[in-house]
Amino acid sequence: MNTTDRRVLTSSLPRVAVVGRPNVGKSTLLNRFVGRREAIVEEKPGVTRDRREETADWCGRRFVVIDTGGWMSDPADPVDAAVRDQVAVALAQADVILFVVDAQAGISQEDAEAAKLVRRAGVPCLLVANKVDNEVAEMQLADLYALGVGDPLPVSALHGRRSGDLLDAVVAALPDEDEDGGPEPDELAEASVALVGRPNVGKSTLFNRLCGDERSIVHDAPGTTRDAVDTVVSLDGVPFRFVDTAGLRRKARVDDRTEYYSRVRAIQSLERADVALLVIDATAGITTADQKVAEEIVDAGRAAVVLLNKWDLLGREEKLSLADDVEDKLRFIAWAPVLRISARTGYNVVKLRAVLDRVLTNFRRRVPTADLVRTIEQAQAHHTAPMVRGATSRIRYATQARHSPPTFVLFANRRLGPDYVRFIENRLRDAYDFEGAPLRCKVKVSERQKKR
Ligand code: GDP
Repeated sequence: MNTTDRRVLTSSLPRVAVVGRPNVGKSTLLNRFVGRREAIVEEKPGVTRDRREETADWCGRRFVVIDTGGWMSDPADPVDAAVRDQVAVALAQADVILFVVDAQAGISQEDAEAAKLVRRAGVPCLLVANKVDNEVAEMQLADLYALGVGDPLPVSALHGRRSGDLLDAVVAALPDEDEDGGPEPDELAEASVALVGRPNVGKSTLFNRLCGDERSIVHDAPGTTRDAVDTVVSLDGVPFRFVDTAGLRRKARVDDRTEYYSRVRAIQSLERADVALLVIDATAGITTADQKVAEEIVDAGRAAVVLLNKWDLLGREEKLSLADDVEDKLRFIAWAPVLRISARTGYNVVKLRAVLDRVLTNFRRRVPTADLVRTIEQAQAHHTAPMVRGATSRIRYATQARHSPPTFVLFANRRLGPDYVRFIENRLRDAYDFEGAPLRCKVKVSERQKKR
């Protein structure tokens, strides 16, 4: 097989580039990959003198490893041309970067500069902390967070310590083999919906209308507690599990019809729900009790839709003043879409399914790290964080730790004020569709800076 053939053969495989200063242990690490019985199957000369490409195979996943060679630094220029070239080549070609640092030597100015380039390029990156030969050394990894390229993965290339874990992490970071692969298991289960709101706003009426629609298929399902009953309602073929529906189907007990009990109910059902439908009696405006239920939704971290019910009873003036009322009194849940409905006449009820779909998609949204880092860099370029004790805080890295609700971790060198975190949240909402989903941002300040 000649070189051209090989290139064709490997061109569709994902590419992993290894970058790092000389002597951090890149070659030893690469040889570990090669040396494993399951790993390298072929080798071919790189296009340039200092680049090697090899095809690796780990647990059935094949990928190309590109060794970009070490960079030599010019002391006069912290980001000299060699660094830039090497990283540029790697970034232009790679799906994943393996950024290798020497954990014993600690991070140098060059490491920091290269990390900056890596972050800017927005290619997923694994930070490999090499020369971590024992548990004690593992404790000293905290400083590496300051590079802003993710959690350090401790390995010892020389002793082979944790190299299997590293290969697992590489494979996990590769782009999906099958781009349009099926949904994840938790997305196959029906979404749980809590109908919440104070008494007499129309929850039962709405629920019975949804169940009564000729396109709906309804069946009861046991709830998680003894007396809780859930109802799975398929709206146009899409199943939704309405939680704790006993009180909605028959007339609720007398004590359930007080605001106190309806709040307790709301809190309990929110615990089991993905999305809350906050039902409001539009004829009464937004009351304090409505605001309290909305607060429970925010505290529980659930997706939400605001339903202004009894719309059929409102005159023109009332409709206008209600819009102002919503904007003012439900400001803290302004991310939730508002639907005007009439449970009694059925007005707009048919729109509910599409709104639920949209909100649930946003609630489960995952932003790739590379994309997220780029968005946050742009936000910071636009508006830098205020000074903390004479120095500027900077977010060096960010990642979405969880979805449902979307939860972001911002790695910063100093504390970030709540206003700035809110600003970042708003930029995330501008950049991605999070309508109906609450966002959570946690700030992690790097250890070294905290001590100062
Ligand atoms: P729940 O306590 O929140 O479950 O409220 P209900 O569903 O029992 O409704 C309370 C009252 O409001 C009942 O008399 C309903 O008929 C009435 N109602 C509910 N929704 C609407 C609506 O959209 N328009 C009108 N005009 N009345 C409604």
